[in-house]
Amino acid sequence: MSFRVALIPGDGIGPEIVLNAKRILARLNQLFDLKIEYAEIEAGDGAFRKYGDPLPKESLEVIEASDFILKGPVGESAADVVVRLRQMYDMYANIRPARSLPNVPTKFGFVDILIVRENTEDLYKGFEHMVSSDTAVGLKVITYNASKRIAEVALRYALMRRKKVTCVHKANVMRITDGLFAKACRDVLKGKVEYNEMYVDAAAANLVRDPSMFDVIVTENVYGDILSDEASQIAGSLGLAPSANIGDGKCLFEPVHGAAFDIAGKNIANPTAFLLSVAMMYDVMYERSKDVRYKNAAEALRKAIDKAYETEKVTPDVGGILKTTEMIEAIYNYLG
Ligand code: ATP
Repeated sequence: MSFRVALIPGDGIGPEIVLNAKRILARLNQLFDLKIEYAEIEAGDGAFRKYGDPLPKESLEVIEASDFILKGPVGESAADVVVRLRQMYDMYANIRPARSLPNVPTKFGFVDILIVRENTEDLYKGFEHMVSSDTAVGLKVITYNASKRIAEVALRYALMRRKKVTCVHKANVMRITDGLFAKACRDVLKGKVEYNEMYVDAAAANLVRDPSMFDVIVTENVYGDILSDEASQIAGSLGLAPSANIGDGKCLFEPVHGAAFDIAGKNIANPTAFLLSVAMMYDVMYERSKDVRYKNAAEALRKAIDKAYETEKVTPDVGGILKTTEMIEAIYNYLG
């Protein structure tokens, strides 16, 4: 099976990471005989300056003809790009792994958690209004169908991992909305994996007490937003975290960090989060095609990144002395 990928270099440190990492993408295509075609497109602040639109028509046409989107960080227009694409293609699941890397100190030893966050509902629907000059109201929207489909995504990931899912909610207070979310998760997950439920306040505390009690966490939009940042930090650094926005059709893969304009152009940006996002893209390609070459490519890339950390061939933000291009070179050489 072949795939077309729209590649967005982005702004700030985006282009120096993405354009230099293209040789890793080409090498993996070659090593594993992957049938992936990349088409580079403009999106973000640069595109806004040039075309008056952070997601110009020409780029949207390429995206429309692609299976996936692989994106570097974009600057001020990040929300206009990502939120728009998420909505256009109903990418309803936000997947955020928090996995520690060799030689990146954590307070908790090796951490490996995957957060599956519902991406379309909850208070982030933004249904808010003033009832009087003194009172603002925000509506929390939870549907059984959206809760069920996110639970199904959690199930798919759990079956590839330790087969354990914790559903995080606050149904003791929000009995109807969170109660419905929990019911959908129970209906999908109970009996198929080791399943438990936890209130969000307890989950936040347990993450900093003993993260090893979690494997996959499935949760609503707002709780997932907060817990995923917490989990990435526990695993070492928010700056190393990859992410995926998954729908039934197109998916978008991107690093969690932003455009980091303060260090742009200095060749010191860490490419880890972007490259781990590439590995997540291969995972989804494997899931959709069942072609083991994509699975092997994901594994080889993750191993090469681990090896760079083991041998301290890393950028200054994680205690190394390498330039971005040198770290990419090291990972390239470790691919085999
Ligand atoms: P945004 O609002 O888009 O999240 P931000 O500037 O507030 O942007 P980031 O761009 O994510 O946040 O980064 C915060 C700081 O972390 C940066 O100023 C930079 O110094 C550091 N940083 C972020 N990403 C990287 C990276 N890939 N490599 C090295 N340092 C990074």
